[in-house]
Amino acid sequence: MIKILEKQVADKIAAGEVIERPLSIVKELIENSIDSGATSIVCEIKNGGKALIRVTDNGSGIEKDQVETAFLRHATSKITQVKDLDSLDTLGFRGEALASIAAVSRVQLLTKVASEKTGTELLIHGGQVISNKPTGSPDGTTMVVSDMFYNTPARLKFLKNDGAEGSAVIEFMSQIALAFCHIKFRVINNGKIVFSTIGDGNRLNTIASIYPNIDIKNLVPIYNEEDGYKVEGFISTPAMSKPTRNSQVFFVNGRVIESKVIEKGLVNGYRERLFEGRHPVAFIFLQTPPSSLDVNIHPNKRQVRFNNEQKIIELIQNTVIMGLGTKESVVRAENIFKLREPKKTTTIDPKPTQEQIHIYNSKVLNIENKKPRELETEKKDDKTIDIKTLLSTKQQEPLTIEEEMIKIDSPINKPFEFDTLKYLGTIFDTYILATDENCFYMFDQHACHERIHYEKFVSQYNQEEKLRQPIMFPFVISTSFDTSIDDNWVNALTKMGFAIEEFGFNSFRIPEIPTFMTIKEAENFVSDFVDNIKDDNQLTNTVVIDKLIMKSCKASIKANDKLTMEEIKALMDQLSKCQNPFSCPHGRPTFIKMTKYEIERTFKRV
Ligand code: ADP
Ligand code: MG
Repeated sequence: MIKILEKQVADKIAAGEVIERPLSIVKELIENSIDSGATSIVCEIKNGGKALIRVTDNGSGIEKDQVETAFLRHATSKITQVKDLDSLDTLGFRGEALASIAAVSRVQLLTKVASEKTGTELLIHGGQVISNKPTGSPDGTTMVVSDMFYNTPARLKFLKNDGAEGSAVIEFMSQIALAFCHIKFRVINNGKIVFSTIGDGNRLNTIASIYPNIDIKNLVPIYNEEDGYKVEGFISTPAMSKPTRNSQVFFVNGRVIESKVIEKGLVNGYRERLFEGRHPVAFIFLQTPPSSLDVNIHPNKRQVRFNNEQKIIELIQNTVIMGLGTKESVVRAENIFKLREPKKTTTIDPKPTQEQIHIYNSKVLNIENKKPRELETEKKDDKTIDIKTLLSTKQQEPLTIEEEMIKIDSPINKPFEFDTLKYLGTIFDTYILATDENCFYMFDQHACHERIHYEKFVSQYNQEEKLRQPIMFPFVISTSFDTSIDDNWVNALTKMGFAIEEFGFNSFRIPEIPTFMTIKEAENFVSDFVDNIKDDNQLTNTVVIDKLIMKSCKASIKANDKLTMEEIKALMDQLSKCQNPFSCPHGRPTFIKMTKYEIERTFKRV
């Protein structure tokens, strides 16, 4: 027999779709608080949120006669017509959350609007109104949700332990506090403050308050605006990378989302700037015209569908490349030990320095990295944060400043300028020294050379016209495998600008080489190229060829060549024309910097 379910039953079933775990409740309550225009929000949980979730805001409050309505299904003040959906600027709109939450827990609501003298206290248990009475209350709203799933005990079993549920809540709170950095957030777990933000609208400041393990000296701002899209945020310089993607947070129109599309743009932007297997830290805020995406794709709204994915990939990629192409992004000498290749025995970051980071800004900041939180969190594959470690991280004091020029408020850093460099010479016949107004640079001559050759080969390979030079005494190479002049490897080398002729059994003569190489380099390159061939049939694949070029470039160039000043300038000129002058194709930096301040500090002058 088909029956219409009683209201309470229907509510419980429906609620199940929305309310799965404490995080779901926190998320809805916090979004409501934000939508209410609050400038200060406190979120407190106990036992991972299972026992208690309390969210207090100083927002609009709910009028007396609306209090019960707010808990009805499809009761919302945020939309009235279907067409409103296209111009949504609130986080909620379905009008389901409060009804769903109330159906599966005990809710106490305290609320007051500024225009009314008294507030209201409403108690709802399992969807039933227990009491509704006037009460004294500050302006704003407090929602206390306790005994989650008390009336559906079977569901309690699906929850993870308190630690895991609490971590999920804290992770969400970290992200939302970052997205809304003009709102003051405080998060309390089992009576202890996890973090609190100042709510001054400064993102870097907010990042520092929430993630004390992230060295903000190694974050650079990104900014880009194009066709109604806006990207901003902070990304790590190549000096700071992680073994997992866990330190990447993406926001689209203020909402934290997971996005393969943004991830792809990020990966592309860091191409060749990091070792394989390393991932950047990134806080990316993307603003798009609301009509350019469909937020309704996933019930818990962690995903979005972009109408034009390629556009987003390119936008993120270009923005990242610009951000990494600045002086601020050049790896600092003191960080060079942090550039770790994967597969080393340790994946744990060295303890963050105790030094104070001093920043000039309109606001004065002073940030101390107090605890290497990363040690505990980095090892994990999932996105959980260890609450114990979070709690042992003491609150950061508001900040004082001394020196060091990071101009935080201006989002745009200028592209790195090779023109302003003064070259001083070389040391150990390997490193080129240079300065500009306030930095000292050391270039690895070998890595620079490798980068230049790599880019030249790749571009020569792809372009019709080859820049070849005949050589007086052609060199001869022999292969260890059976081959002929028609094979793919010969074709690949020809495309790169070599001329190749048969010269007896498995031997070949090279009478012409690319113009940018010396004969010795060309000889080394070709012999390495041939030695590295694993499968000639693979040599029609550009990725395979690219890898071979990379390997062979590396081997072909020797360090310890004494360069004259002319040669230094010529090399630097070529480097400056590279698409990516900052790293060799393997991700090692081509040059590093020390700021004047760092030098002075080293000598204890400041
Ligand atoms: P939605 O957010 O989708 O509108 P909810 O069930 O989450 O639906 O909330 C219902 C309504 O209750 C909201 O539209 C809003 O008017 C009101 N409300 C909920 N929480 C708050 C709050 N913290 N401050 C002010 N109003 C609130
Ligand atoms: Mg809501």
